[in-house]
Amino acid sequence: ERGSERMRINRGRIEGEPSDRRGPTFTGEVWAEPLLKADGVTVNTVFFPPGARTHWHTHDGGQILLVTHGRGFAISDAGDGGPIQAGDVVWFEPGERHWHGAGPETYLTHVAISLGGHDWQDPVTDEQFQAAIDAAADY
Ligand code: MN
Repeated sequence: ERGSERMRINRGRIEGEPSDRRGPTFTGEVWAEPLLKADGVTVNTVFFPPGARTHWHTHDGGQILLVTHGRGFAISDAGDGGPIQAGDVVWFEPGERHWHGAGPETYLTHVAISLGGHDWQDPVTDEQFQAAIDAAADY
């Protein structure tokens, strides 16, 4: 969506746009709350219950995650990343294949600032999820 070419203040969320239960590109019941859409930028709060996670995917212009509550994971296909918790800030490079989501026994909420389009790919398998847990010293 094109910007209005003037500033705006969204009072907590985009007025009139319903919360979005995310569909087949996520594992588990994931909800997104629309905060802002501007030219090339989408901002959502995303809530993951325990065990829920994105599929593998990329963002054309990269993505920032501001972790606001709980604990979970942000993992790249190159083996970078690891556990995340409230207060952490994550940057994914443009085109970097990755996933993010909750821990096995913890909720996770993050604000996602997504730049450009995205490419959804295959699910994170239970084995891949377990590998992230096993690689984290504090799980
Ligand atoms: Mn992402």
